[in-house]
Amino acid sequence: MAEQYGPVLHVHAELLRDFAPAVDVEDATRRIRNGQVGYEALRVLQSCGDLRPAFVRVLDAFELSGFVSNEDRRGLLDGELDVDELVSGWFTGDRTPRDPRRRVGRQAAIVVGNAVLRAASERVGPPAAWKHWTRTVCPCCGGSPDIALVEHGTERTLVCARCDAQWRARREGCLGCDTDDSPAIARIGNPELDYDLVMCNACGRFLKERPRRDLESLIVERALTTELDLAAEQRGLRI
Ligand SMILES: [Zn+2]
Ligand SMILES: [Zn+2]
Repeated sequence: MAEQYGPVLHVHAELLRDFAPAVDVEDATRRIRNGQVGYEALRVLQSCGDLRPAFVRVLDAFELSGFVSNEDRRGLLDGELDVDELVSGWFTGDRTPRDPRRRVGRQAAIVVGNAVLRAASERVGPPAAWKHWTRTVCPCCGGSPDIALVEHGTERTLVCARCDAQWRARREGCLGCDTDDSPAIARIGNPELDYDLVMCNACGRFLKERPRRDLESLIVERALTTELDLAAEQRGLRI
């Protein structure tokens, strides 16, 4: 599967290089130091102009990778699809569509949105710039983490679902509420994927947790673990 993603990763890397999101680095750094989120994701998105050409490129790569048929790709481009709406819908946490074609459209939009915000967060600086961050939302864009990487013992690094920024979690247990441990927190291991789905029944948040070692590109990691998201969403949980 990782190899199948080659064309998508290639276009993502190009977008990351080509996008020039407007970020006031000095302001963002100062804000993060004061415990505020660095920049406003929607405004940064708008600063990149028309996203449709990027979306078309990602869909082409999806077809090359075999994730979308030629017919569905054309259907998505002929339809009244609003790329900005898809990306901002993803920002605000809308659900994965059930219709397969719409779902592919959303996935392509997510690759575009991720490239914009990732480029923005990379401008904000190296992770050392938010070393002292203690909140559970992303220091750069304010998004929620969807993946936790476990290092020695209980130390966890959280990964922003939107911009891939990583920061250390100072707290054990649930990130959404103060629940420390069982019985509110359910953990379902998936040895095949090497992931645990961690769910909090007190506040309805979930997280995908895995060891830090052997991490693939995050696009691939997220694609490999979509079934975990769907399982959590079916229970009414969110990241
Ligand atoms: Zn972020
Ligand atoms: Zn909770």
